[in-house]
Amino acid sequence: MITIALSKGRIFEETVPLLAAAGIVPSENPESSRKLILGTNRADVRLVIVRATDVPTYVQYGAADLGIAGYDVLLEHGGAGLYQPLDLQIAACKLMVAVAEGFDYHAAVKQGARLRVATKYVESAREHFAAKGVHVDLIKLYGSMELAPLVGLADAIVDLVSTGSTLKANKLVAVEHVLDVSSRLVVNPASLKLKRAGVQPILDAFAHATAQHAEHHHA
Ligand code: ADP
Ligand code: MG
Repeated sequence: MITIALSKGRIFEETVPLLAAAGIVPSENPESSRKLILGTNRADVRLVIVRATDVPTYVQYGAADLGIAGYDVLLEHGGAGLYQPLDLQIAACKLMVAVAEGFDYHAAVKQGARLRVATKYVESAREHFAAKGVHVDLIKLYGSMELAPLVGLADAIVDLVSTGSTLKANKLVAVEHVLDVSSRLVVNPASLKLKRAGVQPILDAFAHATAQHAEHHHA
């Protein structure tokens, strides 16, 4: 049995075509099913549906052989016990610093002010501000970061941005790029050795589909 860990929402949706390229079709949609283990058209492949942040953990401990996780999530996890062979280039977005409209971030930084920054991404944020020599107190949040500057919890947030519409809706502006994010394939190293006959063809199909997708976009 090969077990693939995925999260619901955009990662699942953008993974369906990659699975199809590997000849794998989920038997149910996780958005409408309450099942956490989904079968596929292949008797030897199943999907487990977990929180995005938990995908690396399932793969690290071998509860799943493969998984797909955002680079943001992988950086916070640290990547221990994970083979990361492939950037799938799906669920693309950017990790950005954002502040309330009217807050002069660059002036505050220039003055050497100590900033309070709320984020789910404390490891990436710590590294970013340390590299820039910006003094920050980091406040760990688990969601709705956009609220923090609006109610005085923080001067700034570090959060994922794609279209910017969530920032705009909350009168926030992105002021600094932290890093580019897309989702990556993670593999349990023992699974790769012990289940190579089943795992390698999936890796190859994902790599092929990803390369074709990239070519299509650059054409
Ligand atoms: P959750 O809210 O449980 O963290 P999401 O579906 O919002 O789950 O995010 C899962 C992953 O999708 C993130 O780790 C990130 O890599 C990616 N992602 C998050 N927000 C966006 C976005 N706005 N655009 C594209 N990809 C995103
Ligand atoms: Mg989300």
